[in-house]
Amino acid sequence: APAPPPARHLFSDPAEVEALRGNLLAWYDKCKRDLPWRTLAATEPDADRRAYAVWVSEIMLQQTQVSTVIDYYNRWMQKWPTLQALAQASLEVSIAGAGCSPCPHSSSSNTALCLLEQEVNELWAGLGYYSRGKRLQEAARKVVSELAGQMPRTAEDLQKLLPGVGRYTAGAIASISYRQATGVVDGNVIRVLCRLRCIGADSSSPAVIDRLWDMANVLVDRSRPGDFNQALMELGATVCVPRAPLCGECPVKQHCQARHRKLFGKPTPVPDVEDCGVGDCPLCPPAAEPWDSSLGVTNFPRKAAKKQPRVAQTATCVLERRGCHGAPEYLIVQRPSSGLLAGLWEFPSLPLAQGLQEEKQREVLADHLRAWTGWPVVAEGLRFIGEVVHIFSHIHQTYVVYSLPLDGDVTLDPALSPSRWVTEEEFHASAVSTAMKKVLE
Ligand code: SF4
Repeated sequence: APAPPPARHLFSDPAEVEALRGNLLAWYDKCKRDLPWRTLAATEPDADRRAYAVWVSEIMLQQTQVSTVIDYYNRWMQKWPTLQALAQASLEVSIAGAGCSPCPHSSSSNTALCLLEQEVNELWAGLGYYSRGKRLQEAARKVVSELAGQMPRTAEDLQKLLPGVGRYTAGAIASISYRQATGVVDGNVIRVLCRLRCIGADSSSPAVIDRLWDMANVLVDRSRPGDFNQALMELGATVCVPRAPLCGECPVKQHCQARHRKLFGKPTPVPDVEDCGVGDCPLCPPAAEPWDSSLGVTNFPRKAAKKQPRVAQTATCVLERRGCHGAPEYLIVQRPSSGLLAGLWEFPSLPLAQGLQEEKQREVLADHLRAWTGWPVVAEGLRFIGEVVHIFSHIHQTYVVYSLPLDGDVTLDPALSPSRWVTEEEFHASAVSTAMKKVLE
């Protein structure tokens, strides 16, 4: 069996654990932010409703700022206050979908809209994660149809039985809604724990992540697990922030090894690997990147160097026609239900091979539009408008934008992607990506 990590990286003293819990919870009681999901979790007597309220908030908060989420959350909970309401909305989609009439503005039959599904998607689109909303809806249906409307009652069952619920979300729902004494590890917790215990190995590596889960499970307060987990995350979000942590105001500063090292460590970078007294410690910074005293506590956490984003180019065409009231309308199509920007709507687009000249770009785009619309699109008819650059986390994407005004209607092949004509207002209310909003602009 591998040797346990050195004491410096653990919480092995029960008295210290007790003190840390007390300090953190006292701070949380005094300083916590007033958030709608916290109010619901504290006041809702029904366990299923409570779990649903926490679940929605946790899914929305994944990689999205609290301040952005609040408004979406309130609107969502007003519209679908229970699992049953959300599941019902999805059921109605299939009924409406079967009987949808074609859009009155178009001769095309595949512009039929499933309004309820659209509502869910559009509410979520502003948060940038369409597929998370969809998965939540699927999981709600599953709870209603297969689990008699009752949410699983432990973190283990939540993770096992609900699609889209991973270890973190399951732990958050179970600890906050059911008071299960189980820890959670998210980005904020990673940062706080790595600093508290001077963990400088790659914080995204499975070995470090496993250690952090163990640590979170040791630390979590047995009588107030939900509050403790939220307090740890709150500390990371408001005090132990990435760049300039407010160590002077930190309620757990006396337990923080990184702060201790900053205050009492050697003033110059330490050139050896003796960080914790063990030569090959798997949790210390790599020997080649020792403690940098100019960074202080922000030496932690560390991540392996990021891969360079992939460079990609896409031709996109804004097809425009006059609608029934003379206002311009634009054709948008829906992306596949998996992959990048899954299920979002966009202007007809085509990935381009690297280094394609403008003339060739027009030709391939014209071919694509011709095959897809049946309209005699010629390369010369496409007007080059400009380029829009959008940076995704792993892709540096350039949209090469063309426009094509149409005099009549086009008949789209219903076997291809769903599509519809929209006014500018409808475009902005649709589930479209930020990149496409830039393209229209
Ligand atoms: Fe974070 Fe500073 Fe508190 Fe340590 S003392 S946990 S680095 S805010």
